[in-house]
Amino acid sequence: MILDGKKAAAELREELKKKIIELKSTYNTVPGLTVILIGEDPPSKIYVRNKEKFAIEVGINSQVIKYPEDVKEEVVLNKIKELNSDNKVSGILVQLPLPKHIDKRKVIETIDPVKDVDGFHPVNVGNLSSGYDSSIPCTPLGCYLLIKKIEKNLNGKHAVIIGRSNLNGKPMTQLLLKENCTVTITHSKTKDLKAECNRADIIIAAVGRPKLIKGDWVKKGAIVIDVGINKTDSGLVGDVDFDEVSKVAKAITPVPGGVGPMTIACLLSNTIECFRKNKSRLSS
Ligand code: NAP
Repeated sequence: MILDGKKAAAELREELKKKIIELKSTYNTVPGLTVILIGEDPPSKIYVRNKEKFAIEVGINSQVIKYPEDVKEEVVLNKIKELNSDNKVSGILVQLPLPKHIDKRKVIETIDPVKDVDGFHPVNVGNLSSGYDSSIPCTPLGCYLLIKKIEKNLNGKHAVIIGRSNLNGKPMTQLLLKENCTVTITHSKTKDLKAECNRADIIIAAVGRPKLIKGDWVKKGAIVIDVGINKTDSGLVGDVDFDEVSKVAKAITPVPGGVGPMTIACLLSNTIECFRKNKSRLSS
């Protein structure tokens, strides 16, 4: 079975549209998302354009603030502080990667945790790992929702996550632990990745190596989620060898059209959650 991320994302956006209509009738205002884009990185420009397009589609007030590559760090930090105190802004996202002279950690830590739609602020990271309410990074959240479409009860499933980044692997671990999975997190120093994958009921590949995961690495009937986006001479491919693995997996996400669209839909969902949290903070 091919897990159609485009379709799942479109369904999620329809639900979000309805939620925003309800919020508008309750608060007489809609959630606002501000994206800060620095420089001219082509993939970043495409991601931001798509985020803006879908935000507008669901009824979110979308704003993109663009800075040249050589913008001073202080200018960006001051803008974030200004957005933190602007009640019309529910969510703030600073598109990564940043130019080298700008400290990513400082940028992330300047964002008000309640407006942190990406879930990268240490307060949200800590809350997620403690099992408390938090903003959840959009890509792992999208993967999680896709897995739940196939398997409602993940109790005792063995999940193998390939990649330990703060963006993908680590938050994915927390989400699956909360679902009572037994989680193995692997990385570039893992001794026998094939053997680890062979034991998995669920594989999440977030590596950035084209077609690393082969058909004979996957147990029959496993769910395989491919986060990787790799540009090759034959076009965009994932971390999973789709042709081989789709013959053994119970369900698999394609690249493109799998996790990518869900990431953006989850960003919109997070913006709505941030809006609610902002409102409840203002009223308390
Ligand atoms: P990252 O920060 O570079 O992390 C990659 C991880 O993979 C690291 O933990 C690394 O191990 C591990 N790794 C590298 N080579 C390996 C190997 N041969 N065997 C096992 N593990 C290996 O990457 P990321 O930001 O998490 O992104 C991963 C991929 O997802 C990229 O292709 C990216 O473009 C894609 N992505 C997609 C979406 C989406 O919406 N679909 C969103 C974000 C990212 P070490 O820690 O030991 O170095």
